Amino acid sequence: MSNFNLDLTYYRGRVALTAILKALGIGKGDEVAIQAFTCVAVPEGVISAGAKPIYIDILEDGLNINPIDLSQKINSKTKAIVVQHTFGIPADIDSILKIANEKRIPVIEDCCHTLRSKYNGTTLGSFGIASFYSFEWGKPLVAGIGGLAQVNDENLRAILQNNYKKYIVPGFISNLRMELQFLAFSLFYRPSLYWPVKKAFHLLGDIGIIKGNYNHVSGDEVASDFSLKMITSVKKRLERKIMSIDIDTEKARQNGNYYEQNVINPAFKKVIPPSFSETVYTRFPLLYDSKFDFMKFAEKNRIEVADWYNTPAHPLKGDQWSSVYYEPGTCPNAERNTKRILSFPTHARTPKKDIERITNYINNF
Ligand SMILES: *Cc1c(COP(=O)(O)O)cnc(C)c1O
Repeated sequence: MSNFNLDLTYYRGRVALTAILKALGIGKGDEVAIQAFTCVAVPEGVISAGAKPIYIDILEDGLNINPIDLSQKINSKTKAIVVQHTFGIPADIDSILKIANEKRIPVIEDCCHTLRSKYNGTTLGSFGIASFYSFEWGKPLVAGIGGLAQVNDENLRAILQNNYKKYIVPGFISNLRMELQFLAFSLFYRPSLYWPVKKAFHLLGDIGIIKGNYNHVSGDEVASDFSLKMITSVKKRLERKIMSIDIDTEKARQNGNYYEQNVINPAFKKVIPPSFSETVYTRFPLLYDSKFDFMKFAEKNRIEVADWYNTPAHPLKGDQWSSVYYEPGTCPNAERNTKRILSFPTHARTPKKDIERITNYINNF
């Protein structure tokens, strides 16, 4: 069974983040610590609450927050810390909570990549004051564009519930558009069709037919997206699919374990999860210095490999970083790992033989 509370469902994950920040009273003049090597959704969620994101670097051969950089960068203006569990790998919770508790800064967990990974035997999402989730393409549970907040504090929950009354349900057109997009996803999203579908998806996104993961919104558009609840049809699908998350998670866990045990090419560096943690990988990440050579090879051989995050605030390129307050050079590990990251499918829809084939390609590359 799921044990998720589906009361606070929003238009997107970033909308849930903004709602949590606002409920904490965070806004103008405040800073929110987030990690570099993230999706633009996160700084956007912070900015739309009126606050400013500050970027914390990640671990050298890792993908999550470096606690030492965190303790150096937070200051009296820092009013929340967003902790991302990248690809489902738990962040170093003990160290982060120690720093946060000392300074009395609330922690919000970004669980967009994880539903079932554990730290010290406890499922992620229970450590911070609140957590948020996303259900779009590429996340552990795909229901369409949509987000969810979980709250671990009764007072904060009451504020969120009260504010939630002002949010609006998206209309018929949004529903229709989303259903068409979901239908296309169900029909075409298979590892063997990964490359042609990816191209088509980006093309349709560029010409504005579909909403991609990364549409960077600005100005008035932000305000309208950030006042919306989850699309009705997405919520229905979420309610249905969440019933089988344990079955789907078990498959993803086995797929992740397969790569973990069978990838033996030392040029592809595995990311080591913290001790006392149990990782269910949403995708299996490897760090490889000649990333672009492998990408070319993968496209030719029709291997599903993703290359996000490509920038510290994906997919924003250098000339757009200032729009989300990222200053070049401030997070060197994140910048370096954007040039090394490759990730491979683990989701329940991936046939076992594809995972074996991918593993063989990596080992022989
Ligand atoms: C997908 C994602 C989000 C939220 O995305 P939305 O598009 O707003 O649902 C937030 N954080 C991370 C790390 C993500 O990958």
